[in-house]
Amino acid sequence: MTILLVEDDRAIADALVDGLRDNGYAVTHVVSGQEAITKVRAGGITAVVLDLGLPDIDGTEVCRQIRVFSHVPIIVASARETEMDRVNVLDMGADDYVVKPFGIKELVARIQAVVRRSTGTVAPVTHIQVGSLVIDAKARTVMLGKDAIALTAKEFDLLEYLAREPGTVFRRTDILRDVWKTTWYGTTKTLDAHVASIRKKLGNPDWVESVRGVGFTVKAQP
Ligand code: CA
Repeated sequence: MTILLVEDDRAIADALVDGLRDNGYAVTHVVSGQEAITKVRAGGITAVVLDLGLPDIDGTEVCRQIRVFSHVPIIVASARETEMDRVNVLDMGADDYVVKPFGIKELVARIQAVVRRSTGTVAPVTHIQVGSLVIDAKARTVMLGKDAIALTAKEFDLLEYLAREPGTVFRRTDILRDVWKTTWYGTTKTLDAHVASIRKKLGNPDWVESVRGVGFTVKAQP
């Protein structure tokens, strides 16, 4: 299990490298966005812990560029703590977010959670079909009829989660807990943004129905 730590602050990096190694992880440490992209491209990285304020490329852009070619779990670690930043990085394809200063225990717990999700320890059903919508949970592909639908990693997670039980209305809090592994308030806007994006990409808002005051459901026959 190798963690790629992207952090240009020497003191923070030293503490995190030590803490992660104490918890049994191998750590590759880089100080720039360009190095981070290169390392992920080279492979062998289990998860990325990414600072936003980097000397060359902003962390959100690093995240976006990695997502073009990799589903590696990314946890953003930053002192920027406004809701907008959280929404922004999650929309850029990050899997989670920790606000500095944070403890090594919190970081390790979040790493474990995103890695567990990405390795799909619970994925007995890999082929999900709802009408003309076909989701391959293993290959992480979505087909609508003959068309391949390109979703972000989190959009895919959300659609797969809802589509496993068509007609079931999932509560917002449950979706946040199970798909985002979080309960923080800022994510509800992110959830709406992801639903909107999925609807747009599927070309029909009826695929994901809002149930007022409750949450969302994937309809069997839009
Ligand atoms: Ca920094």
